[in-house]
Amino acid sequence: MTANLLDFDLEGLAAFCASLGEKRFRATQLFRWIHQKGARDFGQMTDLARSLRDKLEGSARIEGLPVISQHESADGTIKWLFDVGDGNAVEAVFIPEDDRGTLCVSSQAGCAVGCRFCSTGHQGFSRNMSAGEIIAQLWFAEHFLRAHLRTGGERVISNVVMMGMGEPLQNYAALVPALRIMLDDHGYGLSRRRVTVSTSGVVPMIDRLREDCPVALAVSLHAPNDELRDKLVPLNRKYPIAELLDACNRYLERAPRDFITFEYCMLDGVNDSPQHARELARLVQSHGGRGVSCKLNLIPFNPFPASGLVRSPQQRVQAFAKILSDAGIVTTVRKTRGDDIDAACGQLAGDVKDRTRVDQRIAQQRTVMLKPVPADTTKEA
Ligand code: SF4
Repeated sequence: MTANLLDFDLEGLAAFCASLGEKRFRATQLFRWIHQKGARDFGQMTDLARSLRDKLEGSARIEGLPVISQHESADGTIKWLFDVGDGNAVEAVFIPEDDRGTLCVSSQAGCAVGCRFCSTGHQGFSRNMSAGEIIAQLWFAEHFLRAHLRTGGERVISNVVMMGMGEPLQNYAALVPALRIMLDDHGYGLSRRRVTVSTSGVVPMIDRLREDCPVALAVSLHAPNDELRDKLVPLNRKYPIAELLDACNRYLERAPRDFITFEYCMLDGVNDSPQHARELARLVQSHGGRGVSCKLNLIPFNPFPASGLVRSPQQRVQAFAKILSDAGIVTTVRKTRGDDIDAACGQLAGDVKDRTRVDQRIAQQRTVMLKPVPADTTKEA
């Protein structure tokens, strides 16, 4: 079996080259060919000695993920479905904006966390992706887009968000090398501030990421108290809000940005009342006496049939945002992009051969939870 070179960060590639009796600078050349120039075979690498190319032919490969489908939205968003084998498929989404190009990347085939409002969570979990499979999404998208948009070799993707399918911090061993490849100047050269790991709150791994590879951090909060969050984000029963916010404050000591982004999915009659907004403001401003330096990102829920949940009316989202802004918290409402191709946040579903019996778990949750809050608490502020 040959080694897939997409699996290696620069250190890993240097070790691999050393095993072939090659010097470190050869690894750097190879790394640049793969990630900066998008080379797919060793024959293209004309500045490598013939003898090295021959060695590589026998021991290594550069293997991306087969593309099953590509859909382009009217707003320019592009969604790809990649085959990761054994009947599993994952999705990545490119979101173009005036001042940036963002790629949303998957880290697992499915997800074991099972958030109530998330399409991926409803599909269950099959397996972790390798570092090579994570980076293959960026490798493919970047070089496809350069050709598609005829940029003359100019970089297209300026930001990566680990917000596709999966909980990245439950696939830590593959996540960190993939992040290092994104950040490496010989790779994609992305700024730490422009690479975001989004987590549902795996507290010990937030601490490890702070040590190993601090990048921007987004936390899926979705509720201002443990009682409600337990129902929406099952991981909260293991790592309740107070522990999570403590971890956020520790992370901020090493983070490239001086705030954490809290994601809050707006669910009609569930977490979107003025009381919830006030409780949320109190929580993030007073936790541990000093609060957590943060921005709030309100996400209009993207309904999918199995969820049984409804998007909050726009007026209520605006009222919720106003309460937070009036309290002095920087608050944005996420623009829905690509919803005509099911590429909007929380809609990524891919194709997952579930090994976790998630259907039963979620059906059970649905019977015991999420009664809408009484009408008087959901009036607009
Ligand atoms: S929101 Fe994230 S952590 Fe929760 S189920 Fe979906 S993919 Fe998993």
